[in-house]
Amino acid sequence: MSDTPKAFPPRIFSGIQPSGGLTLGNYLGALKRFVQAQDQGIETIYCMVDLHAITVWQDPAKLRHATRELAAGFIAAGIDPARSILFNQSQVPAHAQLAWIFNCVARMGWLKRMTQFKDKAGKNAENASTGLFAYPNLMAADIMAYHATHVPVGEDQKQHLELTRDIAAKFNHDYGVEFFPIVEPVIEGAATRVMSLRDGTKKMSKSDPSDMSRINLTDDADAIAQKLRKARTDPEPLPEALDGLAERPEARNLVNIYAALADISPEDVIAQYGGQGFGAFKPALADLAVEKLAPINAEMSRLMQDVAEIDRILGEGAARANAIAQPILDQCYDIVGLVRSRP
Ligand code: ATP
Ligand code: MG
Repeated sequence: MSDTPKAFPPRIFSGIQPSGGLTLGNYLGALKRFVQAQDQGIETIYCMVDLHAITVWQDPAKLRHATRELAAGFIAAGIDPARSILFNQSQVPAHAQLAWIFNCVARMGWLKRMTQFKDKAGKNAENASTGLFAYPNLMAADIMAYHATHVPVGEDQKQHLELTRDIAAKFNHDYGVEFFPIVEPVIEGAATRVMSLRDGTKKMSKSDPSDMSRINLTDDADAIAQKLRKARTDPEPLPEALDGLAERPEARNLVNIYAALADISPEDVIAQYGGQGFGAFKPALADLAVEKLAPINAEMSRLMQDVAEIDRILGEGAARANAIAQPILDQCYDIVGLVRSRP
């Protein structure tokens, strides 16, 4: 091995699970950033990670619908299937195949530290699927199957990306190669962790049983306004300076959401609304959210009228993804010593 690390060309990969409808958290923490990355002209690969979704039970018909609706959400938010590669994970076999290799690289102790498993399995960990436990290995495979160098995600995925780095480094070390890049997490913006509207200590999630906890990209203007009006807050007005939000998670969350939607800093939001109560701030936030989300919502509904076209886009994206991932998988199997006898 040479002393200077091998340089991998920049390539962005990220995914979202079709485990429900898209939320404002997914939009601000992930999707909006995906569009920015695409528009910077870097190679971008985006995936509906359906194999991740089935780590918890999914009704088959709902999963199919959610996968297509998620694809519609990507496109409606600004992902151009001609410029980005857009597909669903299960159509590219290299993800699951590489995940098996990583099951054999990652250590039990590493996975046992993953907080997402603890959060999702809850008190009943013995009864969780082994897929839920091994989830981070599949996520590492998603990224490494493309030799991706940068992964835009929300805050909650930071630990999984650190594990991805550990897996890549251990593989490279164990086989004496510089085959997998050490990926850089890209966690940026004012809303890297959008919190539940019902509980400022819990992140907003598409799989949360309470629909009032989140804003869905499919919510209409009335639902958005109602959910924000009922969002849990404290009785104090907004502070005059940002550090006044330190012990106020719900207020801080709404300020961050406003900032991310308006593309301004939280400081700017406080400069504008400091001293005002939620009676004034919540309707302003609702108006802004509706202004930004309504066009996406309308475009998603339009796209969902032609499911065959969505499937065609996903199929074409899968073929392009496969063309990158299959040779990487073949090389990886070869490094490991798995005989490849096909020409
Ligand atoms: P689930 O509850 O099924 O895990 P989810 O809402 O957490 O769904 P994922 O598909 O797990 O969504 O994550 C997709 C992307 O959205 C990831 O990059 C994740 O970090 C980001 N994300 C998820 N929730 C939030 C949030 N509340 N704030 C910011 N980013 C988020
Ligand atoms: Mg999640």
